[in-house]
Amino acid sequence: MIKGNLLYEGKAKCVYETDNPNELLVYFKDDATAGNGAKHGTIQDKGIINNKISTYFFKLLKDRGIKTHFLETVSKREMLIRRLDMIKLEIIVRNIVAGSLVKRLGLPEGTPLAAPIIEYDYKSDELGDPMLNRWHIMALKLASIDEINEIEHISLSVNAIMRELLKAKNVELVDFKLEFGRDKDGTIFLADEISPDNCRFWDADTHEKLDKDRFRQDLGGVEEAYQEMLNRLTM
Ligand code: ADP
Ligand code: UDP
Repeated sequence: MIKGNLLYEGKAKCVYETDNPNELLVYFKDDATAGNGAKHGTIQDKGIINNKISTYFFKLLKDRGIKTHFLETVSKREMLIRRLDMIKLEIIVRNIVAGSLVKRLGLPEGTPLAAPIIEYDYKSDELGDPMLNRWHIMALKLASIDEINEIEHISLSVNAIMRELLKAKNVELVDFKLEFGRDKDGTIFLADEISPDNCRFWDADTHEKLDKDRFRQDLGGVEEAYQEMLNRLTM
């Protein structure tokens, strides 16, 4: 595999072309942002840890029949992925009230939900990722109704698989964000990353936050929380 041109630099990752037109190389950075880019910082070795944690979850999900973009680990910070036509949506799955839902529903952080909630944000930095529903998605032709149904089905399966695994690690899966894309044949794959950057993980006993909320809320112990999540998954 030959690393080619930089295709895209995002807030947390750089995406490079390779000599195979169907494959891309992702480089995980230590950069961290919050509040749609309002807050910037660095979390030391985050890129290394997020590459490892994402790989761990993608492998787990593959074993459980979920189609993911993960192909192989290339280096500490680099992952080879299937090149996809990305669907411009962030799919958010919630099990426990936290983050923006606290204000929106007026419920205390930590309130368990009777069933998972799926929400959609339009992936647009300029617009500040506004929330959409499936009618917006169809009207804007971001995805078809069949694709939306499939994405919801996969997202709920991912939630069930991750919750079960994390329970054994004494971690609660509060909420998380997924992204999906299509290959040349239109097959839907789970893409992007699954890490403490885009999931809320709480210690099941103490409710200690083991994710990016430590950075967002200036709680300290950010690096330690990312490392702790990696340890719990892999040790
Ligand atoms: P952002 O764009 O939100 O700042 P990142 O820094 O994580 O995010 O950049 C990674 C980019 O790569 C995102 O735009 C994401 O949608 C995109 N991406 C993730 N997986 C794939 C894939 N398999 N094929 C093409 N693009 C992908
Ligand atoms: N999330 C994300 N990227 C975003 C917005 C949210 O990865 O652009 C994740 C976030 O880490 C959390 C979940 O989606 O696990 C729900 O986030 P929420 O809507 O509460 O966002 P907040 O406003 O708290 O960032």
